[in-house]
Amino acid sequence: MAEVTAYIAIGANLGEAQRSVQQAMQALGQLPLTRLLACSSLYRTAPIASDPLQPQPATGPDYINAVAAIATGLTAPDLLLHLQALELAAGRERPYPDAPRTLDLDILLYGSAQINTAHLVIPHPRMAQRAFVLVPLAEMAPSLVSAAQLAAVADQTIEKLLPATP
Ligand code: AMP
Repeated sequence: MAEVTAYIAIGANLGEAQRSVQQAMQALGQLPLTRLLACSSLYRTAPIASDPLQPQPATGPDYINAVAAIATGLTAPDLLLHLQALELAAGRERPYPDAPRTLDLDILLYGSAQINTAHLVIPHPRMAQRAFVLVPLAEMAPSLVSAAQLAAVADQTIEKLLPATP
């Protein structure tokens, strides 16, 4: 199968979050049929609810976020399974929606694929609402994010921490 360029959002807000994100970058490059192409800087962001209609804001420590670009021969569903295995290996549990997590990995883009199944939606449906996705993605792939998209999330606090060092 031909290689596809995919963009993965990485987030963590428990334990040694910065280390978890850097380890996840390395782990992405070690998946079968997969090469790590580039990583964004690390960013710090406040937790936000995944469902904007939720009455309660998300709570917990700040997140460390980044985006990685990979070239992969895995299919999108297989890539998702591998990402979920990495999340589990990092000790992730989901006791309630938006619970703090040791590692969260989302497929933002998989080539130009449009996928809409029960388990996988690509492009990621909430990516356009999240500064912690758009800002690191724009750093790596400016052509993928418009100025209007960045302006729409400009009210969300996001602090650049470190250049990428997976
Ligand atoms: P979360 O708890 O935010 O990591 O969401 C995980 C769930 O989202 C899993 O059950 C996935 O099947 C589903 N999902 C749908 N689309 C995606 C995507 N593009 N990347 C990662 N997970 C996805």
